[in-house]
Amino acid sequence: MAVSINYDLCEASGVCATVCPEDVFEHHGGRTAIVKPEACTGCWICVEHCVSGAIELD
Ligand code: SF4
Repeated sequence: MAVSINYDLCEASGVCATVCPEDVFEHHGGRTAIVKPEACTGCWICVEHCVSGAIELD
């Protein structure tokens, strides 16, 4: 499962970093980044919680 952030939509709320059970995201300095993409299990929790519709799962 490949997770990515669409930075055209991302408002850096940091919600994904809070809800992801695998710590795939890191949010600091007003920016959210994917730091452990290999840990993604494809659970869709981040997609369901993102307020910006910015997370894509393939
Ligand atoms: S799909 Fe689940 S494991 Fe993957 S990044 Fe989103 S919340 Fe984390």
